[in-house]
Amino acid sequence: MNSVPIPENDADRIRKLQAYSILDTLPEQDYDDITRLASLICESPISLISLVDEHRQWFKSRVGPDAQETPREHAFCAHSIMTPDDVFIVNDASKDARFEQNPLVTGEPDIRFYAGVPLVAPSGEALGTLCVIDRQPRELTLAQADALRLLSRLVVSQLEMRHDIENIEQSLLDQGDHVARLEDYKRKMDESHANLRVQSVTDVLTGLLNRRGLRTRLAEEFDRAKREQSLFSLLVIDVDEFKSFNDTYGHQAGDKILEMLGALLKDVTRVYDSVGRFGGEEFVVLLPGSDTQGARVIAERTRRAVQRHAWPNRNVTVSIGIATYADNMESAADLFEAADSALYKAKENGRNRCESAA
Ligand code: GH3
Ligand code: MG
Ligand code: MG
Repeated sequence: MNSVPIPENDADRIRKLQAYSILDTLPEQDYDDITRLASLICESPISLISLVDEHRQWFKSRVGPDAQETPREHAFCAHSIMTPDDVFIVNDASKDARFEQNPLVTGEPDIRFYAGVPLVAPSGEALGTLCVIDRQPRELTLAQADALRLLSRLVVSQLEMRHDIENIEQSLLDQGDHVARLEDYKRKMDESHANLRVQSVTDVLTGLLNRRGLRTRLAEEFDRAKREQSLFSLLVIDVDEFKSFNDTYGHQAGDKILEMLGALLKDVTRVYDSVGRFGGEEFVVLLPGSDTQGARVIAERTRRAVQRHAWPNRNVTVSIGIATYADNMESAADLFEAADSALYKAKENGRNRCESAA
């Protein structure tokens, strides 16, 4: 038997065919309609949309035979794709040297007549054919050949359309993926910004507000007190003789005390009070809604709690300065200064004491 001819551009042709993602797909009505029409118009019992793969021809649609594919070496269509611009016609295969030994001629389906129109991609590759086949020798009329050509172009449009839709679907998927990734990224950024925001106002040792956080909260509460004529007090708390504690037990033991003191302050104050470490061994408590009297109660409770606490090395005490918002104060700094001088007074008066601003 003669060997099957292979087009020069066969590798490109097969790549192109595979790009259509059509091989081994399920039957589709649109293609089946075309083979039915071809069979009707050409009055042939067999009609195929045959795609010529590397080693086989595979039928996207078929009227007649049961086989889904045949080896490429037996395919009439493999000959047809050699001339992409022409209808390939074999009037009697049993008398054609190229096909007389072909098993599709000597056995089922007893091909005698074959007419195939190449399915030519817009880029020029012949992917396969739309063909009609008969079991007896015959001719194709000009009108039938024209119709077959027209139908072959319909097959290619169908392939193109399907390919376009797939591309669009893929790009929508990619876009969706892109959006999801972007959203994920944005969420992580938001999280890390939120973390940064928290970190930027948090004291590392105690987990309380740091100086920056305290300043912001203090300004907010001060403004609110001014705006709403509400009560607002402030405690400035300083550890007594802390330098000597450090000198005796070391800086690390000192840190432990500050950490414990932070937790204790958080404990003795109310949930809506703000507690922070202003720096060193100095803490601040903001008491929204408290007048001097109320602040004094909380300060005294705090002082006593520190004094009674079981500390690791030696007793620890604090001095506390108390100040309360007054109309004549211009800014939060005025209030803070008042509390600071009250603290100074507490130190002056012997430490482990609470004093309020005059
Ligand atoms: P008083 O306030 O009663 O007048 O005496 P004091 O010894 O506490 O006051 P002073 O301001 O002289 O010293 C504060 C000390 O606090 C100095 C330093 O050894 C200690 N200190 C400040 N910040 C830290 C800190 O972060 N960790 C530790 N371990 N010690 C600190
Ligand atoms: Mg101090
Ligand atoms: Mg001190």
